[in-house]
Amino acid sequence: MREVRKGMLLVISGPSGAGKGTLYGKLLRDDPTMTFSVSYATRSPRPGEVDGRDYDFVDEEKFQRMVAEDGFLEYAAVHGHHYGTPRQPVMEALANGQNVMLDIDPQGALQVMERMPGCVSVFILPPSFAELRRRLEGRHTEQREEIERRLHNARGEVAQMNRYQYLLINDDVDAAYETLKDIVSAEKQRSVRYFPEMED
Ligand code: ADP
Ligand code: 5GP
Repeated sequence: MREVRKGMLLVISGPSGAGKGTLYGKLLRDDPTMTFSVSYATRSPRPGEVDGRDYDFVDEEKFQRMVAEDGFLEYAAVHGHHYGTPRQPVMEALANGQNVMLDIDPQGALQVMERMPGCVSVFILPPSFAELRRRLEGRHTEQREEIERRLHNARGEVAQMNRYQYLLINDDVDAAYETLKDIVSAEKQRSVRYFPEMED
């Protein structure tokens, strides 16, 4: 049996601290067909973050140059900084049959849903706002003011969840991961992107 597959564009959103990175980090380790689209960001790297791996960290001038050159598939201002998905690497990877995952906010996700109607969209929710606060505080990556800003913005982000095809509550991490894997497995088999050729 010869099998041809078209690449899948997987869009993941959810409030900061919901556990997006935790869940898709596992997926990237377990699924060699899945690649991560490294975004451009104007915020500073957190301790442990690597330029070119977690983000391409750029200044505002470079970011605006990319905007002017139409270099972004989508971009948005999020929590006071600019973030954007570079268009070319994503389109190239998809054309090569690779699956590409985006971790982007709802403003960006809505742009992608419009421009790439075949994309698969997943919104990850924490079990409660109290638990979201615990996770953001426990992560120790943001100062108090920044945590409050993210918690405030979380309300607006959660209000957008019904624009997504799939909703996933990240309560027990292993259960949430199984569900994410189920979504990805089923979506890989969709006849719009999977073309098995039967031999005689
Ligand atoms: P995001 O990428 O959405 O901002 P992270 O993946 O960084 O969120 O997770 C935020 C924090 O919550 C991290 O410290 C992570 O270890 C923790 N976390 C993630 N998922 C769970 C879970 N299901 N239960 C408890 N803690 C979790
Ligand atoms: P963080 O600063 O915690 O890494 O990310 C903050 C928010 O920015 C998250 O909601 C994340 O999904 C979003 N984000 C990261 N990269 C992009 C991007 O390229 N485009 C958009 N629109 N949002 C992004």
